[in-house]
Amino acid sequence: MNKIEIPKEITIVANKLVDSGYSAYLVGGCVRDILMNRDPQDWDIATNAKPEEIQKIFPDSVYENQFGTVGIKTTDHRLQTTAVDRSLSTVDIVEITTFRLEGRYTDKRHPDEIKFAKTIEEDLGRRDFTINAMALDLGIMNKELGIKNKKEKDVGEDSSFIIHNSKFRIIDPFAGQSDLENKIIRTVGNPEERFNEDALRLMRAVRFAVQLDFSAKGGPASGWAIEKKTEDAVKKHAGLLKMIAGERIRDELIKIVMTERAAKDIQSLEDLGLLQYIIPELREGIGVGQNKHHIYNVWEHNLRALDYAVKKNYSVEIRFAALLHDVGKPRTKAGDGPDSTFYNHEVVGAKMTAGILDRLHFPKELRDKVIHLVRYHLFYYNVGEVTEAGVRRFLRRVGPENIDDLLKVREADRIGSGVPKAFPYKLRHLQFMIEKVKADPISPKMLKVNGEDVMKILGIEPGPKVGYILSVLLEEVLDDPEKNSKEKLEAEIKKLGNLDIQELEKMAKGAREKKEEFEGGVEEEMKKKYYVR
Ligand code: ATP
Ligand code: MG
Repeated sequence: MNKIEIPKEITIVANKLVDSGYSAYLVGGCVRDILMNRDPQDWDIATNAKPEEIQKIFPDSVYENQFGTVGIKTTDHRLQTTAVDRSLSTVDIVEITTFRLEGRYTDKRHPDEIKFAKTIEEDLGRRDFTINAMALDLGIMNKELGIKNKKEKDVGEDSSFIIHNSKFRIIDPFAGQSDLENKIIRTVGNPEERFNEDALRLMRAVRFAVQLDFSAKGGPASGWAIEKKTEDAVKKHAGLLKMIAGERIRDELIKIVMTERAAKDIQSLEDLGLLQYIIPELREGIGVGQNKHHIYNVWEHNLRALDYAVKKNYSVEIRFAALLHDVGKPRTKAGDGPDSTFYNHEVVGAKMTAGILDRLHFPKELRDKVIHLVRYHLFYYNVGEVTEAGVRRFLRRVGPENIDDLLKVREADRIGSGVPKAFPYKLRHLQFMIEKVKADPISPKMLKVNGEDVMKILGIEPGPKVGYILSVLLEEVLDDPEKNSKEKLEAEIKKLGNLDIQELEKMAKGAREKKEEFEGGVEEEMKKKYYVR
């Protein structure tokens, strides 16, 4: 490595700090990444300026008290490059943190208070691992340019700043460079104490070991490991994770799932005894054998499905759905050996998924989507067996907007089974059928008549009768989209209007039940016949 390219936002911010008489350092992950010759995911600046002082220099900044960090809004997307950042954040921000000391964590969740430190060395001392506890002095840029009190444009509005190797000043009080070279994850100071202060570091140790192992430039670096004493402390203090707030575990878990070796990471969490405090439900699948359509047990299959979703660079929702799609299998398993069955595992699994994601405070949209994908991952389709009406009902149940994602989960499921059957043709055919019926009405909104029409034609007030009639009409139209014309439906409304309410209720329910029974029946038979997964 001979030069570092620092994004212009960072150089601008650092120069303003230095011009005002404060220090500015790059710290944490970005220094580690620079030294490893990787592209940093985000750039963090540490300074001796206090939050109020930073805010004076940057009037538009936001001070987040909880972390003692001042965020400076930028509009440059290069500062938000990770998928996690993109999926979780809406504002682009450069974060400046005042030097601080390790706070006390009485509740093992959040530091009780923020204490500011005087020196960068003290600030590095509160950081988790030696490789994350290095800083790079940015004061050099000013000396390099030899200009004081310059305007922003002097460092280049549109060019990044390059520091050459000879000019680096790395502050490394804990021999992070040596651990980096030897590929060792080691806590700063006594590991037992450091994990006791903040148990999230247990998960972080595992993530860095797996992530760095993979993603050094020039192919897998391999050989990264957690240092012995640190690893022993992870195993010994695994239970401390119980104390950690769900949302912190969630954020770390999302980072894990977005890394290139997410499946390996989940396996390592299990090996070190941490998974039982994160997603114990997944562990139920360990050693649970499947039927003749699988060569892997449930646990391995879930991890392989996740691995496939990662390799395809699928979204966070699909990754979680792939990991959890069969979480309900152990609780629904009947029989043993090649003929064992898992009826209803998608329903049980969806409920378990809701439990997991709620416990970890996943945001509603992400939660709902993952649960939905788990719930419907097991659909039956075969060319010539499922009618167009069946495909319309499938669309109605699943939602047209979810079909692409559902097919991706299915793909991960299929490949993760180790014995992929000839599904692609069937799935392509399903896509063709969906295309064909796409414009057909599948929801009450898409009917050519609405509740107002029903009330007007029959001269009735709002009430359950209106709803029943619309349900019956939708069922008829799902069977035959040709019936969705204003004229035909109006005639139908008049006919239905003559029936009394009990009868209509029965029809509305009956039509639905009959169809579901019919479809369910076919599915059940097919599953028995072919041991459909
Ligand atoms: P990534 O590439 O995943 O972003 P990172 O090292 O930048 O890795 P962040 O979570 O962004 O990790 O944290 C930035 C820095 O803050 C870390 O490098 C570390 O120095 C410090 N840090 C983060 N979390 C903790 C923690 N729980 N305890 C101590 N220090 C931490
Ligand atoms: Mg980071």
